[in-house]
Amino acid sequence: INGFNRPHFVLIPLMAAGHTIPMIDMACLLAGHGAAVTLITTPLNAARVKATADSIHMSGDPINIVALTFPAAEFGLPEGCENLDAVPTLDLIPNFFHACAALREPLVVHLRQVPTSPSCIIADSFHPWAHDLAVEFGVPRFMFNGFCSFSLLCRYVIYHEKILERIKEDEEQFIIPGLLHRVEISKDQCPKSIGGTVMVDFRDKMMAAEALADGVVINSFDELEPEYVAAFGKATGKTVMTIGPMLLCNEEDAAKTGRGNQSAIDEERCLSWLDGRRPGSVVYVSFGSLAKTPPEQVMEIGLGLEASNQAFVWVIKAGERSPEVEEWIERERFEERTKERGLLIRGWAPQRLILGHPAVGGFVTHCGWNSTLEGVTAGVPMATWPHFAEQFLNERLVVEILKIGVSVGVKKATMFVKDGRKDGAEPAAVRREEVERAVRRLMEEDGEGKEVRERARVMGEKARKAMKEGGSSHLNLNRLVRFARERERAQ
Ligand code: UDP
Repeated sequence: INGFNRPHFVLIPLMAAGHTIPMIDMACLLAGHGAAVTLITTPLNAARVKATADSIHMSGDPINIVALTFPAAEFGLPEGCENLDAVPTLDLIPNFFHACAALREPLVVHLRQVPTSPSCIIADSFHPWAHDLAVEFGVPRFMFNGFCSFSLLCRYVIYHEKILERIKEDEEQFIIPGLLHRVEISKDQCPKSIGGTVMVDFRDKMMAAEALADGVVINSFDELEPEYVAAFGKATGKTVMTIGPMLLCNEEDAAKTGRGNQSAIDEERCLSWLDGRRPGSVVYVSFGSLAKTPPEQVMEIGLGLEASNQAFVWVIKAGERSPEVEEWIERERFEERTKERGLLIRGWAPQRLILGHPAVGGFVTHCGWNSTLEGVTAGVPMATWPHFAEQFLNERLVVEILKIGVSVGVKKATMFVKDGRKDGAEPAAVRREEVERAVRRLMEEDGEGKEVRERARVMGEKARKAMKEGGSSHLNLNRLVRFARERERAQ
């Protein structure tokens, strides 16, 4: 017993924006539900983590943020490489995960020193070593990996039925067996963590650790994908707790920040720009934190947006601002040409602030689950442009199952790498005409667009309800805290 009347959750996120941000939200939610919370990070990530956590006004006690020294150099990583988005080349990604595993020992030392011993560990599935940690402390462990239930189930079925071993061609489409809906996908579009040829051992380790977890925490809500929440629980035999959208941990405050990073644009300027637009008339275009769009593709997007005649907010992230891109913007006088209806953000965007503004009526997204859920919560329809990981699966959920989005029609996965070009599809896989068409379909006021828009709006309402007192996710959070408390008492 940790000596307190509250269970103590130790949260171990993967150091990548899309994995860490939801865990910060989770930390705030658990604290708000009466738990003590320790969040593990590293020195270079600590400031970002702290700023994000501080920006959320919590009803519980502050979160204890612990920064463990990250052994980058020992594992052949460049100095300062403490986040997945800082890994310079694909072949160094395994090194990054191995360096993460080396955090176990210092973490054990830390947890032995503090007065409140852990009562439950929630670790990202990229930290299979968390299994041994939980065993060492004799506490339950929940897995979290940022996927929705639908994608988790697809990944589970594809892996355990060894489907990819039977598929010869990378681009051959196959049907995922046993699902309620007919879902087709190719090997190339599957998460590399199940379909890739690198890191096979690591993947098996991850899946083995997942099989041993006491339960799974999912950033989703029952009303979004009820059949798949149930089916995933049934397939794995695990306790599944949907506790999202976690971004609603404190709606007002969380929306005010750049989440994870300082915004590259003055937030007031951004808001007043949006204030001057008609409700539902602006399309927001952003591809998350990891995907690096090559220069030619950036230019096609810009030209497609211009041709669509829609008002837009377009994010060109720091890693995409190559001299070529900057030169093109200058030469074409792109900002000047589109200034009447376009806002370009170079760097980190205050995404939730933008999506939550009534002027925004559509979201062109890479289907990272956080972005997708942010779109769902805002009640805006999406144009889906998946890049890698489970994004193609998320696209199927959004477009084919929930019917709250339209597909841009991307067939081939691209990998994230620093210079945005290696190992991916052709430099500009989506031509400007296709961008234009997707934006028009998404934003049209009649026909297909209207129905998609209405379904998206209704789903946004359900998302909010799930997180309110008595809502499905709110109840699950209570269950999670109760579970940890009871396990602790039983010890
Ligand atoms: N994000 C943001 N501003 C940006 C880019 C991303 O606030 O300019 C946030 C976004 O709101 C989301 C997260 O970063 O919460 C990205 O996670 P996601 O799962 O969508 O994609 P990933 O970055 O993992 O590919």
